[in-house]
Amino acid sequence: MCPAPGCGRQLRRRQRRACSSRCRAALSRMRQVAAREEREKQILTLVVAAQAAIITAQDLLAEVRRLLPGGQDEPRPRRAQTP
Ligand SMILES: [Zn+2]
Repeated sequence: MCPAPGCGRQLRRRQRRACSSRCRAALSRMRQVAAREEREKQILTLVVAAQAAIITAQDLLAEVRRLLPGGQDEPRPRRAQTP
């Protein structure tokens, strides 16, 4: 059967995917949309992971600053943040 949406006609012997060029085009569009959605999902996953990594790095740097001389444990007034 032709897998194009709303078609479902029987395929002839030589037709492997779709019954007509119109259905082939429809299927191609569907595949493109699916591929784009998949890519967007991957990008979102990477962005979330990158944000988590940034937060982790900030936490670690805060810990380093705390342990360094002049860190928050020392009873000195806090200076303006300088790298
Ligand atoms: Zn069709």
